[in-house]
Amino acid sequence: MRGPPAIESAHAGLLGSGSHASMTAPLTIAHLTKRYGDQAVVDDIDLTIAAGQCHGLLGPNGAGKTTTLRLALGLIEADAGDIRLLGQAMPAGARAARARVGVVPQVDSLDPDFTVRENLLTYGRYFGLDRAEVEVRVPDLLDFAGLAGKGDASVASLSGGMKRRLTLARALINDPDLVILDEPTTGLDPQARHLVWQGLRRLIGKGKTLLLTTHFMDEAERLCDRISIIDRGRIIVEGSPRELIRAHIEPQVVEVYGDALADWRVCALDLCQRCEQVGETLFCYTTDPEPVIAELDRHPTLRYLHRPANLEDVFLKLTGRDLRD
Ligand code: ADP
Repeated sequence: MRGPPAIESAHAGLLGSGSHASMTAPLTIAHLTKRYGDQAVVDDIDLTIAAGQCHGLLGPNGAGKTTTLRLALGLIEADAGDIRLLGQAMPAGARAARARVGVVPQVDSLDPDFTVRENLLTYGRYFGLDRAEVEVRVPDLLDFAGLAGKGDASVASLSGGMKRRLTLARALINDPDLVILDEPTTGLDPQARHLVWQGLRRLIGKGKTLLLTTHFMDEAERLCDRISIIDRGRIIVEGSPRELIRAHIEPQVVEVYGDALADWRVCALDLCQRCEQVGETLFCYTTDPEPVIAELDRHPTLRYLHRPANLEDVFLKLTGRDLRD
């Protein structure tokens, strides 16, 4: 899929050549623990983010993802464990390490009273970049974000998708080696999500390392080389999306809906490796969907959707379907 010219034509120099992706892992975490009160919200985590990869940190609400990112950035102090970010022991080396990291926070922190350009200039100052240095970068950053021609627009006038893309562009102001993104596409419509994905793929293509949290399993499956699923402060599995699907779930799923579901359930249990009823839907997990579909064709009142298993099936199997606040 090709992006709009604005994104595709961005200047190659802006995002580096990929030479930053040295063989040393940009982030390594060992035995990391963080407690609030008597709860270990991060509980003895080991995590290595390999150079040049997009690594997804997935988990239900409250699993400890944001706390892990904040620890990694040296914004809060751990109770135990070691963190090395871009060669620096954290939090002691936070200042030096953060100069080479870009952060896209969960909630946009753009200044609505400033223009798009002023937001970039102001942010550059946090990295000690002088105005002239940032001015040179602004056109390329705006191109990258699909915001060419919007430099003088006020942030308040931008759509949610544009603000998100500006936040992404802002995170690149210091040409970072590692970009940490906390739910970068939450709240965006599908068109805007696709634009952000194109931008992220382009960064991956340039050899940048990305650490991403998201609640969208399709996003993680599309973008991530490697995924860690975290639940209740512990990493419960790790692997590529394909490895996780292969290891934890039957390859085919038939979702069945309809009034006659209760009667048909008995059949399904005979034909599938595993069935799970969620509300009005029976999820039938199987290595061979043919007999299931043949049987369903004999029950025309039942509707069904046949699809390959995906990361969301793995996620829900491993973390459960109960709501987390
Ligand atoms: P996630 O990002 O996976 O949704 P968080 O890392 O934000 O999860 O939170 C993990 C747990 O830590 C939650 O139970 C949350 O309430 C708790 N928590 C996070 N920050 C604090 C804090 N400053 N004080 C007390 N509890 C906190």
